[in-house]
Amino acid sequence: MTPRSQIAENFNINPRQAAALKKLGLKTIEDLLFYFPTRYESFSERKNIVSLAEGDKTTVFGEVLEANIGKTWKKKMAISEISIGDNTGILKAVWFHQPYMAKIITIGDKIALTGKVSNGKGGLYMSNPSFEKITSYEALGEGAAILPVYPETYGITSRWLRFVIQKSLIAAKDIADPIPPEILKKYKLPSLKSALIYIQKPNKLKDAEAARKRFAFEEVFFIQMARLKQRQERQADHCLKLNCPPEELNEFVTSFPFQLTEAQKKAVAAIQADVRKEFPMSRLLEGDVGSGKTAVAIAATFMAVSSGYQVAYMAPTEILAAQHFSSFIEYFSQLKFRPKIGLLTSSDCRKYPSKVNPQEATKISKAQLLKWVENGEIPILIGTHALIEDKVKFCGKDGSSLALVIIDEQHRFGTAQRSSLAKDKSGKTPHLLSMTATPIPRTLALTIYGDLDLTLLDQLPEGRKPVITKIFQPEERESAYATIRSEIETGRQAYIICPRVDEPDPEKEMAILAKSVKEEAKRLKEKIFPEFEIDILHGKMLPKEKEEALLKFKENKSKILVATSVIEVGINVPNATIILIEGAERFGLAQLHQLRGRVIRGRHQPYCLVFAESRSQKTMERLKAFISAKNGFELAEYDLAIRGSGELGGGKQWGISDLGMEALKNLKMVEAARTEAQKIIANDPKLKNFPMLLKKIEASKRLHFE
Ligand code: ADP
Ligand code: MG
Repeated sequence: MTPRSQIAENFNINPRQAAALKKLGLKTIEDLLFYFPTRYESFSERKNIVSLAEGDKTTVFGEVLEANIGKTWKKKMAISEISIGDNTGILKAVWFHQPYMAKIITIGDKIALTGKVSNGKGGLYMSNPSFEKITSYEALGEGAAILPVYPETYGITSRWLRFVIQKSLIAAKDIADPIPPEILKKYKLPSLKSALIYIQKPNKLKDAEAARKRFAFEEVFFIQMARLKQRQERQADHCLKLNCPPEELNEFVTSFPFQLTEAQKKAVAAIQADVRKEFPMSRLLEGDVGSGKTAVAIAATFMAVSSGYQVAYMAPTEILAAQHFSSFIEYFSQLKFRPKIGLLTSSDCRKYPSKVNPQEATKISKAQLLKWVENGEIPILIGTHALIEDKVKFCGKDGSSLALVIIDEQHRFGTAQRSSLAKDKSGKTPHLLSMTATPIPRTLALTIYGDLDLTLLDQLPEGRKPVITKIFQPEERESAYATIRSEIETGRQAYIICPRVDEPDPEKEMAILAKSVKEEAKRLKEKIFPEFEIDILHGKMLPKEKEEALLKFKENKSKILVATSVIEVGINVPNATIILIEGAERFGLAQLHQLRGRVIRGRHQPYCLVFAESRSQKTMERLKAFISAKNGFELAEYDLAIRGSGELGGGKQWGISDLGMEALKNLKMVEAARTEAQKIIANDPKLKNFPMLLKKIEASKRLHFE
């Protein structure tokens, strides 16, 4: 048995198991070894049915006496229900939405159920427990005291996985350890071979912990290696140096309708220092919603266009791109040389100023716009990801007139999308200014932004009042609506956020009953606010409709905008001071914070009114944190502390596994990984002496960047 050999070569597998393995992406013995258990069960946790009490989290073992599959909730939802008995009593278990359970479990099976015991009408039961078919307790784990538990998938059981994985452990010694031994020694981490055994077949829970720590370290270490290498490669690139005279920049900035905050000034100064260097800037501007990132971006744009170069500004949505297009027009039309500005999205191309009316922008064809960008006539191009199409070329024979790329709300783009704009299309690499309002914990920033220099905009413009956030009980709707009414009567406007666009589709099994934008807007207009103009905004509308709705709201023609979380990203209507959020538990904390950010744009007292459909303890705790957190960073740290991955997006958003997220709870560990990665890159930039590390990094690039 070798690590690279196929599972099928080493074990008898039936077609169902083969299908399940394929679904899990497990092909080789090595894949199996790296398929880690989600948790462990200790034997001591098991109980007899008679001794169960409500709230117990435990394992019971018994024989299946009854097995039913039924439909409930207007016959839409499948429920599988079984009863098991041991010598002491009978316990029920139910699974929702899992009709296949009935196929897996049949009467007479011996089964172990692990879950939480609840008390219902028919007595004690477990809901959605994990289960395992076994013959006897002794068969559970070859006498081991600790049992790894893997997620069950149709086709393979945790037990079967445990069996094949433990048999495969013999191949662990043949997998080379990519972490240099000195590092393992220094941080007292187990070798790869030991760690695989510890995690898959621990004798003590402590061993499993040590193994998890190693794998968590490894993941963070690899990501940092990859980022630092990227950074180092970028620093070897050539760029267009921007020597914008400080007086000119100063004069431009003083034309703004406000004074820059100290934080903004620092950010502008950092950028100015960066763009004078020999290598391209890679800076991340991280500032809470409303901290004024656009003004900083505009100052940076000035540095490039006043030197005669071009700027590309990429925003995640068409609404935002259009909004920035008009802001840029406002700022840059003050200038004597009035640079031309283009807008490029998949549905809309515009140019400012129009030939006919120099005060306004005009629609033009995409071909025309691209031509003007290519011949340099348009120095500022704003758009969505349409900007990264190959057809978009910037001026200059060698293509090197694009001096600066700005990416707004950069977390909304995939890493590939981000780097493709920032990458070298010619001899010179443009400077990169990335912006984000997603506050993330320091450890995560250190890890995933290891290739960027970080500037925090940790100060809101003067005169902003903190948002008054209040959670309302369902029966307090009237009072929430009264607050909205009185605000609108004094001239303000309101957002009402619903989790859905349409009513749930009754044909779908998993119908969720949450308020929808369309229905709610109708209800509000008919029953609550007949006197106010109400409009809607959601992601399924045509770009043109969206823009019209937004414009109407901006011009204060509509008073209430009922919307989905599409408004979460960067929409700026300073007169809107009140936001009511329905079904708040359906949004992540960071997202709620972004939504709330929509109303800290002006000088009036802002309000955030929150309704939650669930009143569970977890929901209440999260909402409490939402109320009391002073800023987004605090919320992000809170999120990390209570759940690790989850709302921070976990694996998907940041390219980090749940295990890796565990490492992020530990600042020391993250810093250690970074120190070691930095040392290696500094001594051996091409990783000539670390071929295995190099391979790992390349592989992780394939995983995360393409
Ligand atoms: P974000 O950082 O969320 O992108 P914006 O750039 O959209 O924030 O700025 C939010 C609002 O604050 C805008 O209306 C902008 O004009 C205003 N603003 C930005 N900087 C300042 C400042 N220094 N003083 C007052 N208002 C400012
Ligand atoms: Mg913004």
